[in-house]
Order: sequence, then structure tokens, then C-alpha cells
Amino acid sequence: MVLEVNSVDILADCLDVMEKTFSEMPDFETTIDIQAMRPILLETALKMQDNYPYAHPLYAGQMLKPPHPIARLAYMMALWVNPNNHALDGGRASSQMEKEVVVDIARMFGWPNDHLGHLTSGGTMANLEALWIAEQIHPGKTIVASSQAHYTHSRITQVLKIPYQSVAIDELGRMSMEDLEKQLKTGSIGTVVVTLGTTGIGAVDPLDEIIKLQEKYDFRIHIDSAYGGYFRLAENLAKPATDAFALTQAADSIVVDPHKCGLQPYGCGCILFKDPSVGRYYQHDSPYTYFSSDELHLGEISLECSRAGAGAVALWTTMKMLPLNKKGQFATEIMSTHLAAMNLYNKIANDADELSIIEPQTNIVVWAPLKSKASELSKLSQQLFDTAAEHNLHLATIQLPSSWLAKYWPNVDFDEETVTCMRSCLMKAEHIDWVDDIWNIYKSLPR
Ligand SMILES: *Cc1c(COP(=O)(O)O)cnc(C)c1O
Repeated sequence: MVLEVNSVDILADCLDVMEKTFSEMPDFETTIDIQAMRPILLETALKMQDNYPYAHPLYAGQMLKPPHPIARLAYMMALWVNPNNHALDGGRASSQMEKEVVVDIARMFGWPNDHLGHLTSGGTMANLEALWIAEQIHPGKTIVASSQAHYTHSRITQVLKIPYQSVAIDELGRMSMEDLEKQLKTGSIGTVVVTLGTTGIGAVDPLDEIIKLQEKYDFRIHIDSAYGGYFRLAENLAKPATDAFALTQAADSIVVDPHKCGLQPYGCGCILFKDPSVGRYYQHDSPYTYFSSDELHLGEISLECSRAGAGAVALWTTMKMLPLNKKGQFATEIMSTHLAAMNLYNKIANDADELSIIEPQTNIVVWAPLKSKASELSKLSQQLFDTAAEHNLHLATIQLPSSWLAKYWPNVDFDEETVTCMRSCLMKAEHIDWVDDIWNIYKSLPR
């Protein structure tokens, strides 16, 4: 079975417990026609057959996987109330849960005491809030991020009308310190976006070296670890990535997406600020929202108004089962995904018919099938991606710049500016046991 259903029974018991809250309310009859729902829902289920098997370990393509069953059940349970974490009136329990998970995530990044943060609908919104605050603090100054940073940074800065520049990458696909310093020397840079775990290849920018540049230049550091943030818990990464993750506490703001590597349903990002006083920038007058108490309403420190309280309930419940401890099961599973990526990388590196690039810094592997010309290699990558799917192996492709690949593949004739390569995100705990199967299917494909 690809879809886990054994846990569904727990839901009815939970709803019984929740119903007790309302025992003093008079009965009322719902007008909903439950009989009419069934055929329509079954029709929907038929439509939902048009999907890739994201839950299966042979889905090893994009950053996609279903949430942990406990997150799914907690989210569904919350939907019977449908709390809105904009204000305490909209969801008292779920707002409290949000505050608690944010404290634990901040602690993971090295901020045990002071910080300000909340959940968002995702990484894009979380980064938007961080760059918006950066602009309030350094008005008119430029924001920079590496050329491998998430594409939304350049778009967010367009929306916010903030000047934006891209920084070149080094041989490991990380932000180039040489190019960054060149740009810092102009004196126009206000914020450096440091990506810990790039979306394309999982590269980890050298945060430790970027921090050293703060001795000479005055700039803010925003960490975008929407994808890679939980690797802060990993103890098996190579030294450069370990050194970068060790210093997250030095940043001014941090983004992590629980809906990427944190086992959550979509709609769950998180933004954290080191300085709680940035809350003053969020101040607004709302004539209708806050009446229940003087306690902090999360809508007072968030750009979004309505937010899914169910997301906070799901994350709180998941973190109760899998706390963010360095030696805990969650950390072990994060580490196993890196190990799975290393195992796949080693197979590629030892195969004369494959072109390897760099060791995975997190859990994403990029490579290409051997060909003498870049254009042929791109074509073959696309073909292997298509035929792999026909054999139930779901990989991904990525466009990488020829200028960067040339160092690694001296014998390839680069007749294109960018090359289509193979890409695999090994983000499931189960992947460690499936690398051989993934490899065997891939190697059996006709070329
Ligand atoms: C996914 C991702 C984002 C965007 O987050 P969404 O949750 O998709 O909006 C931003 N930065 C990085 C590094 C990411 O991997």
C-alpha cells in the first residue's frame, strides 16, 4: 500500500474528546445532505488518481512527500473547529500551540530566549516578511543572494521595490566570498540572504565566512533555510556545511519550511527574528479583530491576516512525537536522508558511464549520463527522466550553467549555456533502504 490508512481510526476518538467542549450547547440539526456527499467524493477520489506516487520511496524527484500521519490526523482534527490563528478569538488552543512550536524552532537555531516569530503560509511569505523588515531597517539598500538562491527573492524584492543583486557561486555551488566581498565594498548592500540548502542542488552557503565579513562591513544576515533548516540537527554533514549550520544564531532572521523537511501538510512556513523589537514595524490598527485579551495576538506580528490554525496544531502534534533534539528520531531521519544521498552519489561517482558533480551537502543529488557534447547529454537526461517514470522511478531534472559544470567535466564539449542534468531529492526516511532499487532501475533504462 502506498497510502497509509491504519491510523485513520484514531480520528473518531479524538473528535469524541473534542465534542465534550460543547456539551452545554443546545442540540441543532445540520442541513447537510451526507448521502449526497458520497458519490461526489468518490468522483473526486477518481480524479485524484491523476498524481505521482509521492508517498513511495521510488518517488525521488522533486521536494514532495506527504506529511507524517500524525500531522495529517492533527490537521484534520483541527478542521472540525477550523481555527484561524490571526487572533486569539479565532483559535485559542491553536494560537498557544503556534507560540510553543515557534519557541522550539527558535531554540533549534540557537535562540533559546529572545526572538519574535510565527508560522506563515510558506517559505515565500516568510522570506517576504524578512526582506520587508530588512528594508525597514536599511531603507534603500540593496539585498543580495547567490545565483542559486530561490527564485522568489528577486521577485519579492521587485514587489517590495528593493534593489536586488545576485552573487556568483563558487565551485561547490555556494555563494562566492570573492564576489560577495566585491559587492560589499561598494557600501550599498544592506542585507545578505544566506541560503542553507539551495533548492536546486542543496548547497549550503558558507555562513561562517559571511559572518567574518561583518567585521569589515555593516550588513544584516537573513538565512533562507526553507528547505535545509532542519539540517541544523544533523551531525553527519561535511565540515563546510556543519560549520555553516553551527552559526545560525548569528543571523538577524531565519526562514524554515516545516512543509518541506518537517513532515507537515502544505501551508506551513516559519519566520523568526532575533530582535523581538522588530514587532513595532507590524503595528496596525484593526477596528474589529482583537477584543478577547491583552495577550499577544499573532495577527499583530504577521503580514498575513487569516492563517490556518490547523497548521499549528499539526506541527505541535508532530513535534510532540518527534521533538527537535539532536539525538532524537527526527534528527536521525534527517541524517539518514543525507546518508541516502551520499550512497547514491558514490554509486554515480564510481560509474564510468555517469558524470558526477559534487558530493551532496544536504540530501539532493545532481549528475548526468556521460556524453561528449552538452546538448546530447541534456537530451539523454530528459529521455532518462521520461523512461524512468515509465518504470515507476520518479526523478527530476535541473538546468545548470555550463560555466559551472566545465570545471568538473573537462572532456565535455559545452555547446550550450545551460545543461539539463538529473536531480534527485532523497528526503524520505525510507530512502536509505531504497537507494539500491533506485540505482538498479536507473541503470536498467535503455540509452
Ligand atoms: C521552497 C523554498 C522557498 C519557497 O518556499 P515555499 O514554501 O515554496 O513558498 C524559498 N527558499 C528555499 C531555499 C526553498 O527551498
